[in-house]
Amino acid sequence: MTSLADLPLRPDLVGRTAYGAPMLHVPVTLNTNENTHPVPDAVRADIVARVADALGTVNRYPDREFTELREALAAYLGHDLAPEQVWAANGSNEVLQHVFQAFGGPGRTLLTFPPTYSMYPNYAATSFTAVAEGRRDERFELSAETVVAEIRRTRPDVVVIAAPNNPTGTPVALDVLEAAYDAFDGVLVVDEAYAEFMPAEAPSALTLLPGRPRLAVARTMSKAFAFAGARLGYLAADPAFVDALRLVRLPYHLSAITQAAALGALAHAPEMMRMVEDIRQQRDRMAEGLRSLGYDVAPSWTNFLLFSGVDDPAALWRGLLERGVLVRDLAIPGALRVSAGTAAETDAFLDAMRALTPIGA
Ligand code: PMP
Repeated sequence: MTSLADLPLRPDLVGRTAYGAPMLHVPVTLNTNENTHPVPDAVRADIVARVADALGTVNRYPDREFTELREALAAYLGHDLAPEQVWAANGSNEVLQHVFQAFGGPGRTLLTFPPTYSMYPNYAATSFTAVAEGRRDERFELSAETVVAEIRRTRPDVVVIAAPNNPTGTPVALDVLEAAYDAFDGVLVVDEAYAEFMPAEAPSALTLLPGRPRLAVARTMSKAFAFAGARLGYLAADPAFVDALRLVRLPYHLSAITQAAALGALAHAPEMMRMVEDIRQQRDRMAEGLRSLGYDVAPSWTNFLLFSGVDDPAALWRGLLERGVLVRDLAIPGALRVSAGTAAETDAFLDAMRALTPIGA
């Protein structure tokens, strides 16, 4: 049998492992921050009709500029954004990869603040961008002073800040992002994958876009729109920033089917946001349940929680799995991450946690 070692692999890829959240089939899957609520039937029917329509012309290449989709995304985002300020691709993973292909590269450096989304160093590696790690404050928080100090120390060309952060769920204040932008002359990407789960009154980094052409705010339909399987991520930035991403995308990277499906889901944004509200309630119920069992739960503005005070995370992870509940062990000492689910999934998780938590823990 041929192994990787037998192939003339690029030397810098030798020994690397592929992104690997375990894909196990268990009754309660709360490990990848998916939206556990299926797309409602009426929305599904509309999407199917639109996809059927798109299939009528699928012999032709799709609209390379996904004009209608950019208009719909700009309208959804609000903040007076113009379609020229919007970019989209197959998941925010691909959007962020475009950013690295355009603004990273040999001789350039990414600054990231672990623990954070594990793919950032991966986009850096595949675009030959060096990686510097910044430190966080207590309880995984980021203050303006810390971010500015880390930018001065590492002199990055690209800074990515997940706001709110994954895997901790913690918010990042706008003044921190403003200070980060002013502290260097590279590109600042604010990854707002979980924006819709923030408190309604919390301002988005989109409010910072005017006058900041080196800022990009990335979003995804994977979470709030329950669209992880459809693959649609997007960002908002200055039109010139978007032009830079055009230089690196593959032609026709967004299929006509993806564009039609995304337009269908966006047309039902209010229904989808009602699901978001339900998930937020389950998240808060989960946090309360965990706190009553004695765990320390980081404040969350997302659809997941990081809880600490776990004596043996690997053992608890296994115990939960044996009870049909899959959560995520990210090797953060004493902590596990759990995504918020439906009411029934939340019950199943909390029941399993009660059974697995030593009394008096
Ligand atoms: N950014 C963050 C912070 C995430 O947590 C995720 C997915 N877990 C992504 C980006 C990528 O999402 P997608 O490619 O599905 O849009």
